[in-house]
Amino acid sequence: MDQLPFLARLLALSCILCAPLPALALDQAQVEQGAARLYRERIDELRRAHSLDTDSAFHARVERILQPLLAQAARDYPVSAAWSWEWHTTPDGDENAFAMAGGKLLLSRAFTRRLELNDAELAMLLAHEIAHAVLLHNLREFEQALRLDPQWAARPFAELEHAVDHDQGLMRRLAPLNQQQEEEADREGLKLAWRAGWPAARLARYFQKLSRNSYAPYLDSFAHPAPARRWQAARLLAEQLEQPPGIR
Ligand SMILES: [Zn+2]
Repeated sequence: MDQLPFLARLLALSCILCAPLPALALDQAQVEQGAARLYRERIDELRRAHSLDTDSAFHARVERILQPLLAQAARDYPVSAAWSWEWHTTPDGDENAFAMAGGKLLLSRAFTRRLELNDAELAMLLAHEIAHAVLLHNLREFEQALRLDPQWAARPFAELEHAVDHDQGLMRRLAPLNQQQEEEADREGLKLAWRAGWPAARLARYFQKLSRNSYAPYLDSFAHPAPARRWQAARLLAEQLEQPPGIR
């Protein structure tokens, strides 16, 4: 008589065990695993299109500027010390630059050429991307999505991963956090590159170029503060950092 409920319980248990991992178990390791998969897909796509690491001089320039910044990040953010950073360059004009969890970077030569970035300005761009990674911005974004809509906890993580980049409704609700994260990556990235030895005022000029090249320098975009506002914040921070220690 007890057999049916037992079977029902067994069936329910087996469904739980074979269900995809829910987002509730969200942690940095899971986020890094997902980022590594998405990064690999994008990199493979660029490789198939013969758009990966095609300019050895540009690649070498990025590496020369990047390595000391990564060493500084390992000192300042112990979470990143064990990461195997991976970076690639592309001539693809559709990309600008991005960083993914666990230290996965992509940088577009077209973007740096369009802005005519010198080495200090390129260091600022790279430091901004490094800051996103070491500040665990991907994880914080997923956590915020879970707070906004706890139902995500019952769904597979891969769905949430896709939604933060494609679900317009969710993206709109995440926009305030994204804006904050951009400001934080600007600020902490500039400080990181400055600690690595770059003059703060030269780093800040990256934002001046960004603003000058923008079609709408005074308008916030979906996820970024207005370029003119970013330039003003960077200029003020550079002034503070370059003041003698007694005044700072
Ligand atoms: Zn950013």
